[in-house]
Amino acid sequence: MQSLTRIKELLEMAGHGPKKALGQNFLIDQNLIHKLLDASGVKEGDLVLEIGPGTGALTVGLLERGCRVVVCELDMDLVRVLRETLGEEYPDRLVIVEGDCLAGKKALNLELVEALGDDGFCMVANLPYHAATPVMMTLMTRHAECSGMFVTIQKEVVERFSAGSGSKAYGGISVVAQCLGEVKMITKLKPGCFWPSPGVESAMMGWRRDVDLVGGGDPEWWVSMSEISQLLFQSRRKKLGGVVKKIVGGEIEWPEGTGPDDRIDGLSVELVHGVCRAVEDANGGRG
Ligand code: SAM
Repeated sequence: MQSLTRIKELLEMAGHGPKKALGQNFLIDQNLIHKLLDASGVKEGDLVLEIGPGTGALTVGLLERGCRVVVCELDMDLVRVLRETLGEEYPDRLVIVEGDCLAGKKALNLELVEALGDDGFCMVANLPYHAATPVMMTLMTRHAECSGMFVTIQKEVVERFSAGSGSKAYGGISVVAQCLGEVKMITKLKPGCFWPSPGVESAMMGWRRDVDLVGGGDPEWWVSMSEISQLLFQSRRKKLGGVVKKIVGGEIEWPEGTGPDDRIDGLSVELVHGVCRAVEDANGGRG
């Protein structure tokens, strides 16, 4: 594992200090790195995706546990350092992809997708916060081969993923994440766990895909579901009858337990899912 002194040495090799614009806040508490690895349950031979490896503090832990690791890093100076250090030590189990992890808001970097191949994988990462929500939503809805995610992100975002009906944080991303899997707050982190300290609170979150949950067996559905639920939550305080009428241009067949006088943020994830299906059906399905 990397101490703060080692991280600073590696940054010196890279030729620069932490870059704020790239969200470079390095996790320096070794116990927390172990906590994230333990929560993920990754073991020898597992394929793991790490976005934003930085100097490789978490990457070392994954490699020491015998995982095959695919990393994607935007900072080319850090990519060079990773190639000269971990890349040389683990040539057979580490693939380093250089570039932005996202190709637009809703797709992963193509080279990264190719490097992952068809095997199932799990993401373990201290994510760049600006990319966390689009990366996680893309993996949840468009990459069924992603079996889980164990990540450090903004605490506020963990609260949005885990929120239930009636809460202010409840929204489209809560519904999608909870319909498709189980969300868990692993632990909250103080800014001092990072160097330099970020200006926001952080937390570690776990999510494991569960195909037996609501509508879980139909991967193509989730892209539409995600879009419809986010659209509905844009009018969270309005009566659903009017909101739905604007979207479909007419009525929907209200699922049992719902009706035009409900507000979307008062419905459980299962009921929101049902309303989204009804909206999709009224729009003529996916054909
Ligand atoms: N994994 C390291 C750790 O745990 O200390 C560093 C994590 S730091 C929060 C985020 C990392 O993501 C930085 O190394 C940054 O350069 C990288 N990064 C930022 N934006 C990125 C993007 N769009 N795609 C890939 N990597 C990115």
